Amino acid sequence: MSGDCIFCRIVAGEIPSQAVSETDRVLAFRDINPAAPHHILVVPKRHIADSLVDLNLDDSEQADIWAEMIRVVQTVTKGVDFSNGWRLVSNIGDDGRQSVYHLHVHVLAGRLFGWPPG
Ligand code: AMP
Ligand code: ZN
Repeated sequence: MSGDCIFCRIVAGEIPSQAVSETDRVLAFRDINPAAPHHILVVPKRHIADSLVDLNLDDSEQADIWAEMIRVVQTVTKGVDFSNGWRLVSNIGDDGRQSVYHLHVHVLAGRLFGWPPG
């Protein structure tokens, strides 16, 4: 746990969140500033990496957690609200406009998205 990390504090229950799904090692919750009618963040409960840049897939625990995150993405996108399609996003670094440096992916749905992204 990193003391000043918002997502670590959400996982610890120090900051309230609207959980959507969870496993032992992964939490999915609603984004506080939704960019679409459905906007869910999927994060590892433990601060294993700041982003995909430093996720180490040669470490079997980290690889398992990443797979578990994708499993949770599949779970939260099963409902009818996702039947027309959805988008999976990971913002990386300054140009990617990453704002929270705790590994996470965004699941967005409920509207037609533009391409290329802005
Ligand atoms: P990123 O900009 O890709 O790092 O994504 C971080 C996301 O975390 C943003 O979409 C924020 O709206 C969201 N966020 C920040 N604080 C909270 C919070 N307390 N609860 C839920 N989502 C949050
Ligand atoms: Zn963290």
